[in-house]
Amino acid sequence: MNFDNSYSGLPPAFYASVIPDEVPAPTLLAWNAGLAHELGIASSDYDEAQLAGIFSGSVALQGSQPISMAYAGHQFGHFVPQLGDGRAALLGEVVTKAGNRFDVQLKGSGRTPFSRGGDGKSWLGPVLREYILSEAMHRLGVPTTRALAAVATGETVFRESPLPGAVFTRVAASHLRVGTFEYFAARGDLESLKALADYAIGRHYPEVADETSPYVGLLRRVVEGQAELVAHWMSIGFIHGVMNTDNTAISGETIDYGPAAYLDEFRFDKVFSSIDSYGRYAFANQPTMAQWNLARLSETLLALGAGKDELEAALSLFPDQYESRYLKLMAPKLGVHHVQHSDAGLVADWLKYLNDNALDYTLSFRELASRAGADDEERFGPFETRWRQRISSQGRTAAEVSALMNSVNPLFIPRNHFVEQAISDAVEGDLTVFNELNAALSQPYSEQPGFSEFAKAPRGHERVTQTFCGT
Ligand code: AMP
Ligand code: MG
Repeated sequence: MNFDNSYSGLPPAFYASVIPDEVPAPTLLAWNAGLAHELGIASSDYDEAQLAGIFSGSVALQGSQPISMAYAGHQFGHFVPQLGDGRAALLGEVVTKAGNRFDVQLKGSGRTPFSRGGDGKSWLGPVLREYILSEAMHRLGVPTTRALAAVATGETVFRESPLPGAVFTRVAASHLRVGTFEYFAARGDLESLKALADYAIGRHYPEVADETSPYVGLLRRVVEGQAELVAHWMSIGFIHGVMNTDNTAISGETIDYGPAAYLDEFRFDKVFSSIDSYGRYAFANQPTMAQWNLARLSETLLALGAGKDELEAALSLFPDQYESRYLKLMAPKLGVHHVQHSDAGLVADWLKYLNDNALDYTLSFRELASRAGADDEERFGPFETRWRQRISSQGRTAAEVSALMNSVNPLFIPRNHFVEQAISDAVEGDLTVFNELNAALSQPYSEQPGFSEFAKAPRGHERVTQTFCGT
């Protein structure tokens, strides 16, 4: 692996050097050969035991300078001045042939100066969960961190009960967060804050460096990225669950899958996370919460001397940008080839129908697609009449409409009950469901007869009602 580490070139206040723990019995559970290839890692140069050694943190790679990053964050609205990587070590950065720079980070590799009371470890559950969810997210075309490896450590980790330990390898455009900016702003360390903002611009948005107000340009870019990201989440029925500012990436990628989950039956106010008691991060609140997080970023840039009015103007772009991106994603899901403003009403009607009838979000789109040419009794009530008028006004055949819909509406999403089954089986040493689920999710839009079970909504007793951070 060819490391090219830029973050460790920033001032010492940005990070702490760490040494990942050596673990007793590293065993490779999952290896993402496709992603490894993109990163220029020749999988054939290593056998499984070597990969397990490296991606458990037990064996150091040449050129790697493991560091844990400092950051702060607003957690559920409350500011915590010091968080940081309490269980993560950035091995280094890799630049691909295409010239893209990626962080390669271990999660669960032991205590760091930011661990506070935690053990710095992870158990198998959150590792496999993030593996499944982040790769599925990528296949659904949503910006996200990726999964390179999952390694069992042979250690026992204690949560409520003894559990098998594991390490996850995450690949990200970067790990810069809104909380990284807040960390320096809260300390009044303007020199570091400026170094961070300049670094973020250089790494992610170099085009704004020449603007008259680069920091306003930076905010505008992050606003655009979050609008795009959250529009995607809302279109696929994804609930992040912990949209704290320390989990808001400057790159616009989905990051930190702790209690993240997909809707089964559609409900605007759905919450899965056990710790989100007041529904702050409920499904329909996500756009508002993203804008709240962006306001926290804006405040830090104000401290750097960026103009208040200009920052306000950049921030206020969010609602319109979100709405237009969301509509652009939703219209084809309803078979609309050329989106019009008035289609927002059609989308709203559909969601209200799903909500009032507690219908499965994902499967209802596929079922609607199959009704493009139907002339029998209506399955989706009065909504279907309005919908049929709209799609028949386009001059397209029913086959064209349903083909469009099936190309953007997934059949396979990481359903909670299968994710949990994959994890509980893996704890017993059986990776069959984990592997099959990943295989099904790698082609989310295609009928796959061998995996049709994974497309099904949960029946009563299979329904998962709560998810956990798993930390
Ligand atoms: P998260 O909920 O994963 O975004 O984590 C929030 C904060 O808690 C971060 O600073 C993490 O590094 C820290 N943290 C989570 N789990 C652990 C752990 N097992 N040991 C130490 N720190 C942790
Ligand atoms: Mg986090």
